[in-house]
Amino acid sequence: MPRALVTGAAGFLGSHLCDKLLGLGYEVVGMDNLITGDQRNLAHLHDDPNFSFVRHDVTQFIHCPGELDEVYHFASPASPIDYLRIPIQTMKVGALGTHNCLGLALAKGARFLIASTSECYGDPLVHPQTEDYYGNVNPVGPRGCYDEAKRFAEALTMSYHRHHGLQTRIVRIFNTYGPRMRLDDGRVLPAFIGQALRGEPLTVFGDGSQTRSFCYVDDLLEGIYRLMQSDEVYPTNIGNPSEMSIMDFAVKIQATLGTDFPVESRPLPENDPKVRQPDISKARSLLGWEPLIDLDEGLRRTIPFFQGRVKGRTPTEA
Ligand code: UDP
Repeated sequence: MPRALVTGAAGFLGSHLCDKLLGLGYEVVGMDNLITGDQRNLAHLHDDPNFSFVRHDVTQFIHCPGELDEVYHFASPASPIDYLRIPIQTMKVGALGTHNCLGLALAKGARFLIASTSECYGDPLVHPQTEDYYGNVNPVGPRGCYDEAKRFAEALTMSYHRHHGLQTRIVRIFNTYGPRMRLDDGRVLPAFIGQALRGEPLTVFGDGSQTRSFCYVDDLLEGIYRLMQSDEVYPTNIGNPSEMSIMDFAVKIQATLGTDFPVESRPLPENDPKVRQPDISKARSLLGWEPLIDLDEGLRRTIPFFQGRVKGRTPTEA
């Protein structure tokens, strides 16, 4: 039975990753300091003999007894309002946390995967974004703490690969959604769905012409798992290339939930990327992967979760 460590296990992606690995027959150690994660995301694993949870801040030395075959480093604040609120922890988990996870993987002879991000491309001047684009990041802007932490994490990962020969993988994750996102994490999908369900106007930042491309969580994790099993050490984009403007996205959420309040304009946050769309040619050819779940289906699977959270009860799993 393979054994994996997942950091950030109580987060949105981390908890779904734990489920996926357990479903594939892994023994999973989940680790989280719960500063942005939520233990409710792991409540259903409480009695699973193949799952254990350790509350720990991975910026401190990681003690993980027993063998490990794979380390998935997913711990990090990941929404703009979170990393603006806790910028130093964001930088520490990308830098010190990645260092500790790499050191642990090296000591255990485990394969290592870092959850990196499309934010490495910043406000991109190349569209759609290919992995060989170096990006357009403002290191001293409000998003710099996240973008540069992840860029440092990628560089450190490559250094462990080159210097120690560690088996490493880097996934650049584009906007992803699904059940277990925090209703108040500020990202556009929980924000809009929460507002629509509460009968409030949707808050569109700027003129809403900026674009994003939304990937359903199950698609994303399938791509990430395939990447871990592959031999590719260089960064690989995983995301859904279906791109839309934020204004169109607002209209889509309203149409799906049957609300029609006028949208409310808010100032565009500084350095908010104007466009974002993954070029997934590499993932297609290397991993035989592409997303299968379109936005309509993904929303059908996601909305019941948010309905549960808005009503304040523990949701049944989608
Ligand atoms: N956004 C918005 N209204 C909101 C939250 C976000 O218009 O209530 C916009 C935001 O300015 C950005 C896009 O939606 O252009 C996606 O934002 P999100 O925070 O989800 O993630 P990002 O892709 O910027 O990291």
